[in-house]
Amino acid sequence: MRYDHLILGAGIYGLYAAALLGKKGLKVLVAEYEDGPFRRASWINQARVHHGYHYPRSVSTARRTAMYYRRFNADFPFAINRSFRKIYALSSVGSLTNAPQFLKFCVHVGIPAIEINAAAYFNPQYVEAAFETEEYAFDPFAVRDALMERAKETGKVDFLFGARILGAERQGRVYSVAFNEGRKVEAPAVLNATYSSTNQVLSKFGFQPMNIKYEICEVIMVGVGGRLKEAGLTVMDGQFFSVMPFGLAGSHSLTSVAFTPHLSSYEKLPVFRCQERNTECTPGQLANCNTCPARPETAFPYMNQLAKKYLAAGMEMGYESSLFAIKPILLAAELDDSRPTITMRLSDEPSFVSVLSGKINTVYDLDEVL
Ligand SMILES: Cc1cc2nc3c(=O)[nH]c(=O)nc-3n(C[C@H](O)[C@H](O)[C@H](O)COP(=O)(O)OP(=O)(O)OC[C@H]3O[C@@H](n4cnc5c(N)ncnc54)[C@H](O)[C@@H]3O)c2cc1C
Repeated sequence: MRYDHLILGAGIYGLYAAALLGKKGLKVLVAEYEDGPFRRASWINQARVHHGYHYPRSVSTARRTAMYYRRFNADFPFAINRSFRKIYALSSVGSLTNAPQFLKFCVHVGIPAIEINAAAYFNPQYVEAAFETEEYAFDPFAVRDALMERAKETGKVDFLFGARILGAERQGRVYSVAFNEGRKVEAPAVLNATYSSTNQVLSKFGFQPMNIKYEICEVIMVGVGGRLKEAGLTVMDGQFFSVMPFGLAGSHSLTSVAFTPHLSSYEKLPVFRCQERNTECTPGQLANCNTCPARPETAFPYMNQLAKKYLAAGMEMGYESSLFAIKPILLAAELDDSRPTITMRLSDEPSFVSVLSGKINTVYDLDEVL
């Protein structure tokens, strides 16, 4: 099979790239490990359309997400949940940013923040101040369906689901990639959009892996009642938590800095002890944590206890289900808590571009490299 562009990964980055390249008239193949699109991080995340508030210690990340915020909301209006109040609060103990610093930062980045009565949502004993902000949630399924539609509409994009890369080599001006079931694909351009498998794919193509820390993360779906139903709450800046609507699903997601990550790996090709119980998942190719029989037990009791300490009386939540995905974090980004989207052109002819995304709405960074 010969294509103009081979895209590895059918998350938001792979599908956005497919629609973009297809629209340019290029013949594209999207090869995806799973049996369908959006089975990993593009579904399993907090569904926050970042406006910048989360990154008072990385103005560059805040600015980048704020820059794309309106574009993303305008691009996927049917997928955006705007029907809740988004409140950011600063913990009065153990926070790396205090309320005056947070306000100054919002003014600096140009994002609105209005102080509200913290006691409306929080136990004032533990919260220094609370601010109403403007930030929405996106529905991953609606974004997935729209991108699949946009890619298909071009009439130029084919999909290969259940794809396993058996080997990849450079042959003159094309890459030749062998997949399972005897399929061989040749393309003069490849995009690596495999997120937690970025290094694994780089290695298969003979490139140096990046310095990445991997975290197996749990995003918990909870049912909420009362005032929490119309609110998304984030307590900052450190080992705290967030509870906010998960897209248009009717549930909230619950995450916390301390308990969302269950296991970490600092190896360039990720090694986790749970891989011993799932032979499909190896340092050479990660399988899907969400469907893995060896996935961790939920941390809901701990997250719930933490949230209870901070929330006003009567703001209860009930456990519904857990979703698991691996988050790759650049080691250099750990220092300042930045989440850059890194795009690298590693070869020209044939072309090889690799993207390690920081956020959903920085997907437009791909425009510059494709
Ligand atoms: C816990 C958590 C919370 C987050 N919260 C937010 C948030 O609230 N807001 C936000 O903007 N961002 C958030 N993020 C980050 C965001 O989810 C990612 O930046 C984004 O989803 C990455 O998109 P992607 O397409 O690169 O990755 P993915 O959606 O993971 O897609 C990569 C695809 O590559 C496939 N693949 C892997 N290996 C191969 C292979 N060898 N061959 C072919 N295909 C392969 C995978 O199966 C997968 O489908 C969060 C991330 C996590 C993990």
